[in-house]
Amino acid sequence: MNITHAYAAQDAKSKLAPFEYQPRELRDHDVQIEIMYCGVCHSDLHQARNEWKNTIFPVVPGHEIVGRVTALGSHAHKYKVGDLVGVGCLVDSCRTCDSCKQDLEQYCENGFTGTYNGKDRTTGEITYGGYSTQVVVNEDFVLRVPENLDPAGAAPLLCAGITTYSPLSHWKVGPGKKVGIVGLGGLGHMGVKIAHAMGAYVVLFTTSPSKIEDGKRLGADEVVISKDPDQMAQHTNSFDFILNTVAAQHDLNPFITLLRLNGTMTLVGVPEHDHPSPHVANLIYKRRSVAGSLIGGIKETQDMLDFCGKHNITSDIEMIKMDEINEAYERMLKSDVKYRFVIDIDSLRN
Ligand SMILES: [Zn+2]
Ligand SMILES: [Zn+2]
Repeated sequence: MNITHAYAAQDAKSKLAPFEYQPRELRDHDVQIEIMYCGVCHSDLHQARNEWKNTIFPVVPGHEIVGRVTALGSHAHKYKVGDLVGVGCLVDSCRTCDSCKQDLEQYCENGFTGTYNGKDRTTGEITYGGYSTQVVVNEDFVLRVPENLDPAGAAPLLCAGITTYSPLSHWKVGPGKKVGIVGLGGLGHMGVKIAHAMGAYVVLFTTSPSKIEDGKRLGADEVVISKDPDQMAQHTNSFDFILNTVAAQHDLNPFITLLRLNGTMTLVGVPEHDHPSPHVANLIYKRRSVAGSLIGGIKETQDMLDFCGKHNITSDIEMIKMDEINEAYERMLKSDVKYRFVIDIDSLRN
């Protein structure tokens, strides 16, 4: 098989740089994908810099992959050569535990196999992600990308899209529901679009007045400046559900107070230092919940892509070339992106 051109970090301190590797031979149920675009997720940066202390170097990040099928294993039948497909955060799981049997592979009790920095369940080899010209993945973990979507804008759906769709769907967001989205970054802007398309009344919470206009353009019915106690007080006891996408440590109480009886706030960002514990009475007196949610399973990720196809939802992106990745990481740290970087993988082929 052709050599794969990629970008890798060789250790936690070095920048991403060109790297080559030999992909695995196609197994019976494998799909070989020529990658067109790969989104840049905050987890890529965390793992390239070993901030979660579990990176095996060299690491090739990237789990928001869109491309076309170029070859199939002898028993792979779900896709045809030429199909537009995607790969998200998972490329395998045990398939036998209770979570896997319920199509919740992201919660696999034996640990799912990550698209990169994971261990292949057959050979123990380390998986390499989407900052690459091609990838080989078992067909059960490949998604179909609707052909009507812009493939570059669709790439971030594979992580940012499903991370927000899954909790919005699980907590039954829809018409007649008042839903808050906290934070307007890569995750938050997808949350606003998807919650709006689900038919809910959407309120965006942001700390920066400069984001009011953009929030409304993306689908928010209202934008609340969360630092302003007067604005916040107008929404006390009114939300059915709040999706909190902010990964920086902050006080959860001002948002919990906005939940109505039985309301839930779900966290999807992992802060480096935990949020302070919320006031317990604030939960008890209105039977409120604080919950967490991790990406989504394969079946749900396909449902999300089909939903986005139907509603023509993609991410707002800034396209970069592969050799601009280190600069993009620095800008991402300053939240200087609207709202997701996507790598044009063709720039790796030239
Ligand atoms: Zn991600
Ligand atoms: Zn499992």
